[in-house]
Amino acid sequence: MDNYSEIRVPISKKNPSIKRHNSKCVLCGKCKDVCQKKIGVAGYWKYDSEDIVCINCGQCAAVCPVDSITEQDDTNALMEAINSNKKIVFITSPAVRVALGETAGYPAGEFVQGKMVSALKKLGADYVFDVTFGADLTIMEEASELIDRIKNNKTLPQFTSCCPAWVKFVETFYPKYIPNLSSTKSPISMQASVIRNYFAPNNKINPNDLYIVAVTPCVAKKYEIKRPELSGPYGQDTDLVITTRELGKLLKRQKINLKKLNDEQFDLAFPAGTGAGMIFGASGGVMEAAVRTAYYLTTGNNPTDNLLNFTPVRGLKDVKTAKVKLLDTELNLCVIYGTANARKVLNKLKTKNYHFIEVMTCPNGCVGGGGQPKQKDNLLAVEARANGLYKQDESLGLKASFQNAAVQNVYKQFLDAPLSAKAKKYLHTTFTARK
Ligand code: SF4
Ligand code: SF4
Repeated sequence: MDNYSEIRVPISKKNPSIKRHNSKCVLCGKCKDVCQKKIGVAGYWKYDSEDIVCINCGQCAAVCPVDSITEQDDTNALMEAINSNKKIVFITSPAVRVALGETAGYPAGEFVQGKMVSALKKLGADYVFDVTFGADLTIMEEASELIDRIKNNKTLPQFTSCCPAWVKFVETFYPKYIPNLSSTKSPISMQASVIRNYFAPNNKINPNDLYIVAVTPCVAKKYEIKRPELSGPYGQDTDLVITTRELGKLLKRQKINLKKLNDEQFDLAFPAGTGAGMIFGASGGVMEAAVRTAYYLTTGNNPTDNLLNFTPVRGLKDVKTAKVKLLDTELNLCVIYGTANARKVLNKLKTKNYHFIEVMTCPNGCVGGGGQPKQKDNLLAVEARANGLYKQDESLGLKASFQNAAVQNVYKQFLDAPLSAKAKKYLHTTFTARK
């Protein structure tokens, strides 16, 4: 146990997401405060064999005023891979493109997708793919799972499972709710699985020659990719995670100036996804995206205008509720950020008072991830980044995941259909109760 655990969070040397540079610590207590009040972990500590329980969210690093806590820096590992014989595949999460600009002097929320792709190519990418494809795939599976649970009287409410810190929170503190977690993998894990098991053989590439790097706003993803449950036929599908902050730092080190770059496009094997995939990065985005597709899957019609601008689940409020009619049932929806808030909802949860619950650990969802650039006014920044994503959703012609032609194509050529045996094998996972 840390000598100062009355004041600050203890951090295991084996933590794959964060580390402490002890000499910098000024014992201000901000890390413990956020871990207790927003994340709901400090104060509920317990030892898991020799390790202190941590859900790897990185919010302690985000609030540490002197960078005594930081992400585990994987930029050297990335450069080693780039200088090896491997083919480097970057996959980039939606929330990165509205925050990376901040590391080069742009305001929060500036949409720098084209410059980000260009920077990754300059760094040494063989391919740069957009995780909005993985997000659309996640929605196809997750919306189908929700409909299956409702139609067949299976466990409800369904919980989203794309936030690895939230998943670990349930496994650690609320294992009785593991059956409620959607069995879908997260967007990065689905995309890595499809790249390794479908894209590689289709393009006559040995899947073992690929080195897949996810660029994410999230330090918990560094933990997620090592989960044994996510390993496929070739072992770990995603080789490395680097955060927006690390990418910004690395670009400076390599003297790549975002401001001087022209826009480049993602590689076309997985073209940019729909507006639904884009809004995944904001709190409420997964819920809105899932409802748009669930509406189509149950009615055969395109989502109505109110579902394309589903305001009750948008915005900075940390617990939001909404209703939507599907399958002749009025569904009660709940959207939460901050696992401390989830604790309050779970403690009062009654069977079927909600049908679907989205939980993201970080403020306003992934846009406020523990690996995003630090800003003096974090709430203003996370709001601006979310607005950047919603603006993109408005401008994109395709707004629902089922409309993504590349996703339809992958089902046709590889996965058969949502929830098929193949989809279950490559796109779904399992969870484990933790002591
Ligand atoms: S990473 Fe999250 S859970 Fe772990 S100590 Fe930091 S704030 Fe707490
Ligand atoms: S927030 Fe940083 S400086 Fe403050 S107690 Fe925690 S580690 Fe130390």
